[in-house]
Amino acid sequence: MRTSIEAARERVRRAKRVAVLTGAGVSAESGIPTFRSNGGYWRQRRFEDLATPQGFARDPKFVWTWYEERRRGIARAEPNAGHRALVELEARAERFTLITQNVDGLHERAGSRNVIRLHGSIWSLRCLGCRREIEEHAELNELPPLCECGGMLRPGVVWFGESLPAGAMERAASAVSEAELLIVVGTSAQVYPAAGLIPMALGAGAAVLEVNPAETEFSDDVTFALRGGAAEILPALL
Ligand code: NAD
Repeated sequence: MRTSIEAARERVRRAKRVAVLTGAGVSAESGIPTFRSNGGYWRQRRFEDLATPQGFARDPKFVWTWYEERRRGIARAEPNAGHRALVELEARAERFTLITQNVDGLHERAGSRNVIRLHGSIWSLRCLGCRREIEEHAELNELPPLCECGGMLRPGVVWFGESLPAGAMERAASAVSEAELLIVVGTSAQVYPAAGLIPMALGAGAAVLEVNPAETEFSDDVTFALRGGAAEILPALL
């Protein structure tokens, strides 16, 4: 494992086929709290109450109040220099896939194009009755919101214990297996199957570059581990 930014920058400069895996940490410097770090959501609330289908069934209004609060916070946030560096990297690489666990949409707002959202989007709402999925950015006045059909709408995100959107993991795995470089940014690498993309890349012989202020369980295995925030390190890599 190497920690030199110069060596990492040189590897990034040479890479033609690049995949990136991002987590909540890439949006931390946009003011959006992560889940597990200090100040993260799971230090204050129980994820079983807020991010499981059972929690939602027990108290949809409570869950929606939290999601709507997050939606308003994210609406006020702006993409940071880390998001923007990934847009520039996409423009430089011959092949580029951005795989994100984030639901905030900040990569797309920054201008990233080839994005696979593994965990859905906080801007989409799904009807529990007719299953229709709608995109809604406006403030939700009624909580829980209702669909035109009268059914209850739920957040269009993947909760613990649920499967990922159809085909998302397959497309992510295929991008990772073709990549010569996987950049892993701002994820605690504890949520599977997303975290499984890291050993998959290492097994396929790709270089893996981790950007995170903290160590993760893959830090000892990766090719480059750079300690620091995404908004500082990612631009410095270009
Ligand atoms: P996590 O909260 O488990 O881990 C966040 C990681 O980011 C930690 O390893 C932390 O050290 C690192 N980090 C903190 N500040 C950073 C910075 N400035 N730059 C780079 N890294 C930084 O988040 P995760 O691994 O993404 O957990 C997975 C789940 O959290 C996903 O399901 C995702 O949907 C959800 N989530 C999404 C958002 C969002 O959309 N912005 C926010 C919170 C959680």
